[in-house]
Amino acid sequence: MSELRYNSYAAFFRQHYGGRLQKVSVDAGFGCPNRSADDRNVGGCTFCNNRAFNPSYCSPEKSITQQIDEGIEFHRRRYPSTTRYLAYFQPYSNTYATLATLKCRYEEALQHPGVVGLIIGTRPDCVDEEKLDYIAQIAKEHYVAIEYGIESCYDSTLANIRRGHNFEATRRAIEMTAQRKIHCGGHLIFGLPGETRQMILDEAEAINSLPIDTLKLHQLQIIVGSALASQPLAAKPFRLDEYIALVCDFLERLRPDIMMERFAGEVPPRFQAHPEFSWRRTDGRLLRNEEVPPMVNRELERRGTRQGCTLYENENHNENQNEN
Ligand code: SF4
Repeated sequence: MSELRYNSYAAFFRQHYGGRLQKVSVDAGFGCPNRSADDRNVGGCTFCNNRAFNPSYCSPEKSITQQIDEGIEFHRRRYPSTTRYLAYFQPYSNTYATLATLKCRYEEALQHPGVVGLIIGTRPDCVDEEKLDYIAQIAKEHYVAIEYGIESCYDSTLANIRRGHNFEATRRAIEMTAQRKIHCGGHLIFGLPGETRQMILDEAEAINSLPIDTLKLHQLQIIVGSALASQPLAAKPFRLDEYIALVCDFLERLRPDIMMERFAGEVPPRFQAHPEFSWRRTDGRLLRNEEVPPMVNRELERRGTRQGCTLYENENHNENQNEN
């Protein structure tokens, strides 16, 4: 296998936990302030339809324990040697409830014998000191990561996609999380309406300025049932080679200690309002998420570059200038 030219989150688990920790998605019935009638109720972020990402075993009508049991069974067929799981509180905003409710949901997951930790997906404006203090407590005994939907580093885009918070809220939440030594991840969407290629590349600098541990990248997809699907198309899909080149350009600008969890998104065909935002292989099959990282690595290899290399170049340049 060729050398990895980016910092991989999977490699972190292999190194620190001696092997794969499989995520098992859990829908704990949380809502989100963008959809809640009690709150802003703006009808959701324009790209969002959570049903498109929810695995079949994942439903708030089932207990958390049942979802984990079924999720483990589901993954066992694909990864039979995996024995340790992370409960992934994935859909909606999984800190959008009272502290008592959060405790009850997270602790049920942690009591499952196969579960060694939690990944909590949420919005930057759905955490506070009290909730983070509690999460920091459980992070002393289990692997716990909070994954924030950053989506964009531009306030104009965040307003345009009806996100309901600005980038300063993202910075604040990530800093509060990192101060408590909770593993902290972020999720960015490439190709949102109004963002140029250069704007996307410039986001690397904003991400580098955050005390973040992991990052997921997704290409924009137009999902059935989302607001974007009902509007005239305001974004252009990337060709696969264009997207791989963009991801590599971005990685070259990204801090090398940030671990990459994912480079692209995958939506089942029945949820694709515009299938051209997903990619197909020459045999017509939908390109799977796990096929993208080797493509990114091959492209970095071809270029002779790696994650963060332009930052080193700048450092070397500055050092040389100081020497002169
Ligand atoms: S993306 Fe998250 S915050 Fe936005 S509407 Fe969907 S669930 Fe709510």
